[in-house]
Amino acid sequence: MPRSGRGVLFPNLIPPNGDIAKRQRGFNHQEKSTEDLFDIRKFLRIIIIKIRSLMNRRKYVEDLKKQSEIVWDIIVIGGGATGLGVAHDAVLRGYKTLLLEQSDFAKATSSRSTKLVHGGVRYMAQGDLFLVMEALHERGLMLKNAPHLTFNQEFVIPVYTLWDAFMYTVGLKFYDLLSGRLSMGKSYFINREKTLSRLPLLQSKGLKGGIVYHDGQFDDSRMAFALAESCADKGGMVLNYFKVTNLIKDGNGKINSIRAVDIASGDEFILRTKLVINATGIFADEIARMDNPESKPTIRPSQGVHIVLDKSFLQSNSAIMIPKTSDGRVLFAIPWYNEVVIGTTDTPLDSISLEPVALEKEINFILQTAEKYLVNPPRRQDVLCIYAGLRPLAANPDNPASTREVSRRHKITLSPSGLLTIIGGKWTTYRRMAEETIDRAIKAGLLKEAKCVTYDLKLTKKSSDISTERLNIYGDHSIDIEKMISENPSLGIPIDTRLPYTRAEILWICRNEMPFTLEDILARRTRSLFLNAGVSAEIAPEVAWLMAREFGYDQKWQEEQVYAYNELVKNYL
Ligand SMILES: Cc1cc2nc3c(=O)[nH]c(=O)nc-3n(C[C@H](O)[C@H](O)[C@H](O)COP(=O)(O)OP(=O)(O)OC[C@H]3O[C@@H](n4cnc5c(N)ncnc54)[C@H](O)[C@@H]3O)c2cc1C
Repeated sequence: MPRSGRGVLFPNLIPPNGDIAKRQRGFNHQEKSTEDLFDIRKFLRIIIIKIRSLMNRRKYVEDLKKQSEIVWDIIVIGGGATGLGVAHDAVLRGYKTLLLEQSDFAKATSSRSTKLVHGGVRYMAQGDLFLVMEALHERGLMLKNAPHLTFNQEFVIPVYTLWDAFMYTVGLKFYDLLSGRLSMGKSYFINREKTLSRLPLLQSKGLKGGIVYHDGQFDDSRMAFALAESCADKGGMVLNYFKVTNLIKDGNGKINSIRAVDIASGDEFILRTKLVINATGIFADEIARMDNPESKPTIRPSQGVHIVLDKSFLQSNSAIMIPKTSDGRVLFAIPWYNEVVIGTTDTPLDSISLEPVALEKEINFILQTAEKYLVNPPRRQDVLCIYAGLRPLAANPDNPASTREVSRRHKITLSPSGLLTIIGGKWTTYRRMAEETIDRAIKAGLLKEAKCVTYDLKLTKKSSDISTERLNIYGDHSIDIEKMISENPSLGIPIDTRLPYTRAEILWICRNEMPFTLEDILARRTRSLFLNAGVSAEIAPEVAWLMAREFGYDQKWQEEQVYAYNELVKNYL
């Protein structure tokens, strides 16, 4: 859409005179709110929206202040896949549950995955059959329970020797077998011609054929929001930007409260609880040290890097899986929205960070490996986004330096003072990990008995196989966004044609999903940063303006947010 035409198409939200820069200079919160208040219908609509919000941070914080004497059944620390899964399970069993996340939900590892709902073909090769079987079962449940965010993805393993063709065909038949009645489709061998018709841009030199198999694919951070919203809907409280700073014990040395800081206001809270669950992924040892300063390291961080390219580099709806790259690692090239994600690496690290940065050697490794398999080899300047994530692998006490041999299975431990910690695992198994964590607390007598109900709990009322309709990523709430667009069609136009997201989505997100920073919207509630980091920086001023308008922030806030976002984007390019 031409920038000069926006004022006409988007009459309620754009000042009449200008492009984004002018609009920012001309933004005056005082004028805007006075003008809005005169429009009583608009004012009432905003009030109704605020009351009906799915999640409302301001209200939660006010409630916490008012009810400072409340004793929670469970406080979960960490708002990634693991913590949200645990809180979700707990709320649904009827426990009074509070989840605290120091940054944004899914800010750390849980928005930086390969986006696979999978058993893990490579873990089968490592002989970890129990892990594969468990993950395949959970894969099936996740696809059934969250059909709006997951779908069945076809993969092809290209083979260049007859031995590999035999090995992988047998191996994937076994993978099918392990998935039992929750199979997503049979695997089978295809000849060279059929492989090339599925993957027209695959290097054909020496190609013998391919093995087709199926796994799931999903949007990781949108899944996190689906869990957070379901928690809130069922009466739990989930708070982002709320950092746990200490654990407090009673006279018997048992944890009975936590100290936490509201990052938004700097206010400190002491919150009472019967049970604290440490679900902080790579940060789990920091929480463990709050419990016992002498506690030994349990996490071995390992960095995985992905690059995102235009889909034209793959030109296929099938994904490629390379089981053994030059250094023995697995590499995927997977269609994701309108792009293709290629990764991942596995580099042991000694330090952890909320914002890990890809190493140049990791990026080069991915590009060089892609060059071996793709007819049009991607160059550095073709990369739309580079993202790094840290696996919270449970350390192997016998070989702490290694990451590849460390089991990907989760580990649950209970400290003498009652800190229940869950580490490791995968996004795919989040539900099972949560069930086992709460069961463990019940078994230890920390909670009264209640049955897990998440096995077939749907996160949307929509039927399966609807993930092709783009707004379905918002589940049942897509209707609300569609309504906004039908009332004001200009809201339905993408902010930039190179990304799918519309203004209606940004406004809906502001009202319902507790974004606090510009990054929260561009990186995790929409996937703009991950799909195209450069374009996401271009739309940042407009999204900041929309946020400011919704929340009543001033121009300084917008400028600071856009500056911080531009700094962040440098790590993704
Ligand atoms: C590169 C890569 C690819 C992957 N691909 C896949 C895949 O395709 N499929 C799959 O199933 N799995 C995959 N995984 C694994 C999966 O992403 C992780 O197992 C999962 O996201 C871990 O979630 P988590 O909640 O344990 O950790 P995190 O997502 O890191 O969440 C922990 C949270 O705790 C918060 N926190 C820490 N300290 C505090 C505090 N003091 N107070 C409050 N909050 C705090 C952090 O801010 C953080 O948000 C992948 C992992 C990586 C690294």
